[in-house]
Amino acid sequence: MAIDFSETSQVVHFLTRQGGVVKLLAKGSKRAKSKTGGAIDLLSEGDLLYSSAGTGTLGTLMEFTEMAAHNDLRKNAAALNAALYMMELAGMMLAEADPHPEVFDLLHSGLARLARPAAAVEQILAYFQWRLLKHVGLLGELNACVACGAELGEGSSTAARTGIFFSSRNGGFLCPACSGQATDKYPVQPGTLEGLAALAAAGAGKRVNLSVGQANAVNRLLLYHISQQLGKTPRMAKHALAK
Ligand SMILES: [Zn+2]
Repeated sequence: MAIDFSETSQVVHFLTRQGGVVKLLAKGSKRAKSKTGGAIDLLSEGDLLYSSAGTGTLGTLMEFTEMAAHNDLRKNAAALNAALYMMELAGMMLAEADPHPEVFDLLHSGLARLARPAAAVEQILAYFQWRLLKHVGLLGELNACVACGAELGEGSSTAARTGIFFSSRNGGFLCPACSGQATDKYPVQPGTLEGLAALAAAGAGKRVNLSVGQANAVNRLLLYHISQQLGKTPRMAKHALAK
């Protein structure tokens, strides 16, 4: 994220692989011929040299060499919105100067996938959200009721799935018998459980088919969880996610 600081400088928020989220002053970056490579674009990815003044203070960007501009993302509005949403989420979920190389790699590969022709945007987004929440510890096992342990997985009949809710505060699903006690709850939609099972299989390295409907159901559920956990809804959500 780049914020104009003065006529010639920007404050740029970077997600770095080794150093996590860093906020840097890019002196003179808005001048055409600057050693930081000119104005830094939101989608730029590259090699970074910076001096850090410690957490909470602005560091200084010394050199930025762009390796990927991700310009192909701009050809597809859905892919671009998804990319901006993924970047916003990574920034919201990670604290400053707290390294998470796995999240950097997840975002890196997510952006590359979105930039491909005919990218499966909903599915890429579903995998990104699911993996990110898993990584930061906000998603546990999702195949049983978190209160009583009753199974909710693929084996159960459609009838047994009606009345299942997701509770953000409880961090998982609640069966019909247990859902009454929840203070926050989100109804499980058709395709949600199948979609989550497919993502878990994909996370374990299996090739799976996730339908657009399942991906959308998962995306809405995970957005609900994220919004509850953060106390606010990411700004890009309304552009990136289907209603
Ligand atoms: Zn239960």
